[in-house]
Amino acid sequence: MEGRTRTVAFVTLGCAKNEVDSRDMAALLAQAGYRIADDPERADAIIVNTCSFIQPATEESIEAILDAAALDGVRGGAVPLVVAGCMPARYGDELAAELPEAAAFVPCSREDSIAEVLDGLLGGPSACAAAPPADAAADGGPSAYVKISDGCDRFCSYCTIPFIRGRYHSFPQQDIQREVAALVAAGKREIVLVAQDTGRWGTDLPEPSTLAALVDTLAEAHPDTWFRLMYIQPEGITDELVDAVASHGNICSYLDIPLQHCNGDILKAMNRTGDAGRFLELIGRLRRDVPDVALRTTLICGFPGETEEQFEELCDFVEEAELDYVGIFPFSPEDGTRAAELPGQVDDDTKQERTQRLRDIADAVSSAVIARRVGRRVPVLVCGIEEDGQRFGRTQAQAPEVDGATFLDAGEPGDMPTCVITDTLIYEMEGEVCGR
Ligand code: SF4
Repeated sequence: MEGRTRTVAFVTLGCAKNEVDSRDMAALLAQAGYRIADDPERADAIIVNTCSFIQPATEESIEAILDAAALDGVRGGAVPLVVAGCMPARYGDELAAELPEAAAFVPCSREDSIAEVLDGLLGGPSACAAAPPADAAADGGPSAYVKISDGCDRFCSYCTIPFIRGRYHSFPQQDIQREVAALVAAGKREIVLVAQDTGRWGTDLPEPSTLAALVDTLAEAHPDTWFRLMYIQPEGITDELVDAVASHGNICSYLDIPLQHCNGDILKAMNRTGDAGRFLELIGRLRRDVPDVALRTTLICGFPGETEEQFEELCDFVEEAELDYVGIFPFSPEDGTRAAELPGQVDDDTKQERTQRLRDIADAVSSAVIARRVGRRVPVLVCGIEEDGQRFGRTQAQAPEVDGATFLDAGEPGDMPTCVITDTLIYEMEGEVCGR
């Protein structure tokens, strides 16, 4: 393979944070002279960037690894298969014995060395060592994720993330500003700030700062770009942050606050704080202070010890809170977590039944909440055009990938026309362009 530019294909599993990690690895590889290929069947090496925070995610990652391992090049030994990300971080050396198909394992903490790993596997650096960096804006339409920190110190009793990703560490403000500026210059119209615990950003820096100060600076510097905040723990919703969101038209009136439950005893067993009363008070404050704010949360059903009464309390909470979007998951007992060892494990049938019951309630509540948007005039970020010419995009109330789309009658990807919302169907909306 000496003397030519080598190609690498990525298969990325899991959440937006993993997508950012794949993009960062791709940029490092491009700097080292590799070309990023879309098609794993035509690549000189394949990287599967895995997710492993719960068992179903691990199973999906294993499936993707085995699919890649079945490709002719990998089976024949000519194409090395690299397993990166959360699985090697979580399972360490055990993996080598379980997955002999993989040529190397690169945990999250060593992803900066991805080019050296591939150079080693392919027998030296790629020929085109002066290749330009990967175009960070080439993927994902007009929207891009930017990770502002990694790791988590909260140690919720059910969660593997602190073991996989390590202690919380904020990325420096200058690095984030530089990354955002490059994405905006490359045409991105929406920057989605992500982390495991977004609201804590800045508190651990040598010169401590806050998420509110960061997003305020970014919104001022890029007035034509939307900024969206994901994964803010309730404790991270400060008055300063609410002011920042309320006072900038380009900070999306949208907050994603993972609550996980509303019963105080269950939250305590989760090593979290709060209760239904405090959460309803927070939601009321946000609705009062941030006009037309859209709110998303995630909830867990069937945590160990959850009684039918506590589950009913969660159902009542979902009805009363009237959140725009609720992600609902059955509790998953993960090896190495305290919650997996707690007494009172709820059986699988009950967990599934409660999850479905709560999803039905949340769908009915959210459909009604979203239907109230009919008649509003709002900017829509046009994200793409389907084969039949149908335009689709998102309002500030819809985050990428999770909250549905808005279908509209005109506009090119990257445009942000004003639309009047004419109809809704559960999470989807329809709009007509009424201004630029
Ligand atoms: S805050 Fe989120 S990432 Fe951190 S331990 Fe809790 S669930 Fe896990």
